[in-house]
Amino acid sequence: MLFPLTIDLPHGAAPDASHPLYDAAVTTRGLCPRCGREHTLPAGVARAECASLMRLLEQHGRIDMQAPDDAADPHFSLDYLHGVARGQMFGVLVVRTQDGGYGTLRAFSAQYNRVWHVAGWVPPLIDIAAFDAQVAKDDPVINALGRRIRELDAAIADERDAAEQAPQGIPDTTAPVVTAGTGPMSVDEAPAPTRIDLLMRERAALVDERKGLSQRSMRAIHELYRVHSFGNRADRAASLFEIFPAGRGVPTGTGDCCAPKLLQYAILHNMTPLGLAEFYWGRESRSGARQHGEFYPSCQDKCYPILGYMLCGLEERAVTG
Ligand SMILES: [Zn+2]
Ligand SMILES: [Zn+2]
Repeated sequence: MLFPLTIDLPHGAAPDASHPLYDAAVTTRGLCPRCGREHTLPAGVARAECASLMRLLEQHGRIDMQAPDDAADPHFSLDYLHGVARGQMFGVLVVRTQDGGYGTLRAFSAQYNRVWHVAGWVPPLIDIAAFDAQVAKDDPVINALGRRIRELDAAIADERDAAEQAPQGIPDTTAPVVTAGTGPMSVDEAPAPTRIDLLMRERAALVDERKGLSQRSMRAIHELYRVHSFGNRADRAASLFEIFPAGRGVPTGTGDCCAPKLLQYAILHNMTPLGLAEFYWGRESRSGARQHGEFYPSCQDKCYPILGYMLCGLEERAVTG
């Protein structure tokens, strides 16, 4: 998982501010929920290491670079990033290990073509078996509700068509439904619902049910994330709900970016981060906000709250080694 540095490191030198490729620009930042301060990490030599990774990706044309050519899995081809799925983020963290050596860690954001674990890349923050079990439990129900809602959409459209085309004298389907036991309507009574009204009501109830279930399912998935911090090492991890400001929803995909994956691995393996950089690879994002081969700082909506929590305590550790 730890790769040697590809940049030249003169004997005894460190990939620190004295290195000619060192970039002091802050790439990774977060607001700490514990001490209320912003904690940051510079690019360091990580951009130079990213450039090496980009060359490797170009050479191999796939992300399972540890597999020999004849054992390459087409699932991990980079073609995936140039197709309908579009590109995604990759990241490199330069670290000092416990024994004083240096190396780099690599990450891709979220899943690669629906796969969380690929040899040579750091794992996700979430327990995949628990994630799969949660998805297997909720997804069939959510999908069934979606199918029923689409059936109702079709039925409502049919009713409207029938109502428009109904010639004079033929019962109008938009007319109130008169059921047995319903007496003559008094003036102050609400009109009885039409068939379309009833279908719309059923649809609205199902949409509500699906929304509630999706939210509960997402919340259960967020509960499965365990976020560690340099400040309290491996002894206690927080859930996303403990870290995010109260009252603020946790955005979908929180914890899946490269920066939290890389930092989590470093924390759990007693490595000290020296620089982090993230770049986009593949067909440009739909909004055009992300371009192939460009570097981007850690994101604001998902990463800013959790990176502060993770980086807390790193300054002290960097001083003491
Ligand atoms: Zn992010
Ligand atoms: Zn802090």
